[in-house]
Amino acid sequence: MFMTISTTGDPLRPATDLGFLLHKHPGRAQAFSTAHGTAHVFYPEASDERCTAALLLEVDPVALVRRGRGKGRSGTPDTALAQYVNDRPYAASSLLAVAMGSVFRTALSGTCAALPERAARPLPLRIEIPALPARGGAPLVRALFGPLGWTSVEAEPVALDERFPGWGESRYVRLVLEGELRLAAALRHLYVLLPVLDDAKHYWVTPDEVDKLLRAGDGWLAGHPEHALITSRYLARRRGLTRQAMERLELVRLAEADDLGVEDVDNAVDEATDTEERPVPLAERRREAILRALDAAGAATVLDLGCGQGQLVQALLRDPRYTRVAGVDVSVRALTVAARRLRLERMGERQAARVSLFQGSLTYTDKRLKGYDAAVLSEVIEHLDLPRLPALEYAVFGSARPATVIVTTPNSEYNVRWESLPAGHVRHGDHRFEWTREEFRAWAHGVAERHGYGVEFVPVGPDDPEVGPPTQMAVFRTAPATDAPTTTETATTTTTTAKEEKAA
Ligand code: SAH
Repeated sequence: MFMTISTTGDPLRPATDLGFLLHKHPGRAQAFSTAHGTAHVFYPEASDERCTAALLLEVDPVALVRRGRGKGRSGTPDTALAQYVNDRPYAASSLLAVAMGSVFRTALSGTCAALPERAARPLPLRIEIPALPARGGAPLVRALFGPLGWTSVEAEPVALDERFPGWGESRYVRLVLEGELRLAAALRHLYVLLPVLDDAKHYWVTPDEVDKLLRAGDGWLAGHPEHALITSRYLARRRGLTRQAMERLELVRLAEADDLGVEDVDNAVDEATDTEERPVPLAERRREAILRALDAAGAATVLDLGCGQGQLVQALLRDPRYTRVAGVDVSVRALTVAARRLRLERMGERQAARVSLFQGSLTYTDKRLKGYDAAVLSEVIEHLDLPRLPALEYAVFGSARPATVIVTTPNSEYNVRWESLPAGHVRHGDHRFEWTREEFRAWAHGVAERHGYGVEFVPVGPDDPEVGPPTQMAVFRTAPATDAPTTTETATTTTTTAKEEKAA
């Protein structure tokens, strides 16, 4: 059973500081005796630029059988245990998670006396597990790791025997996770999800498993779209324990809104917004343009995808015509700020019934996004790596399919008009790309064609005769013919605003 954790230089310099965060020295191989055999920790590479730690668990079959005796659920010899002994020496599984829990206990808790501020911040991480037993296969692996903020989740089925492709696939996948996450968060994902995917928890599940699950799930499990499956499988499908855990997760969700101090809120605000928008009121113009387009579309139920700190959600809730408003974001911190902004916890019952905030990644299809009249993607697409854009396109236009979709994004041509922006730069550090009007139109027309939408373009902000407006907006509608006049009206209104502004 084998896994590797790598990090690449910045901001961890030297990269070998990974050793501090894991509390395991990169200079030597170490062995630890664990409940199920010997765990080895060593570093296949350790340079200033790149550092990889490997965890290898050598299962001791005798210890395993001895520990397991009498603990099987039926009281008879435990066949699940026999399986571990027979065919799993190289597969990562719940046993690896247990080993992780003891070997990397301090790292899992997120504390690091030597480098406290490093432990608290996201690092570029790559985790590879060459053979991960996965009941539910690669699709479930993606559904479980997908919403957790990893930029890439690669799950490749492992062939039963490469020499004989006809034999089909084994129950193993090769998993590679990449992204910028806190090390503790990454380890906690694995600590919970390895046994969930293995789905054959090898030891007797005791009530303190609920505590372990909630501790390891802190900050991500409550808002995970598959939290019910994760909880039930992690607790070996014990109904009583699962119900208990689900209730506590519900409380976590409610408490999250109250958890942050003022300082944290400010940080989260910095993280979640495009800083160039303040104090420029372009963000406000964008919201006005979006509200006009929603009005023209006659939408009553609206999804704000990538809602950030919830300003648009707040504006929508002020208007009684919006009967159901949902804000979705991949960032729990942004959602927490949004919940505070909306005073969700103090809201009356009727108002609270209109709004929901939930965590999710827009690059994965999600049942919760179905059934709304309109969806807004305001300044969100440019935060995704270009290769992930087709996944978002499918999740929104292919799977969720609201009748109206409003997308705004910066117009890169306008960047020359920003005085403070050096030539050739994007407006925000986290923008993965910025498009010219032509590039945006080409993308939008492609989306419309592939998914049966009509599309209109609306300038937002002063429409410069040479470089166009600072923000470009596309309004996608299914059945474009019937609603054409309303959409045109939107465009006209917005253009007028832009002209007024120029005149001013
Ligand atoms: N819509 C807001 C915020 C834009 S900032 C506004 O117009 O002000 C972009 C937001 O998209 C951030 O809050 C970020 O967390 C979110 N985001 C980025 N990638 C995402 C993804 N894959 N899934 C969901 N949200 C994402």
